[in-house]
Amino acid sequence: MAVPRNRMSNARKNSKRAHHAKKPKHLSTCANCGNPRRPHFSCQGCGTYGEKAPAQKEA
Ligand SMILES: [Zn+2]
Repeated sequence: MAVPRNRMSNARKNSKRAHHAKKPKHLSTCANCGNPRRPHFSCQGCGTYGEKAPAQKEA
């Protein structure tokens, strides 16, 4: 396993971690009911995906 040769200064460590912030989750609205919906996921409210009919729920 690689071992660091030199200690990383606080400034270098913090500037490296400046890019580690979490980005907000991307949300789009459902075309059918208007609820917030994750892209490439079926709607949690009505179950539609794009133009397709609601997915059949298992009995
Ligand atoms: Zn919907």
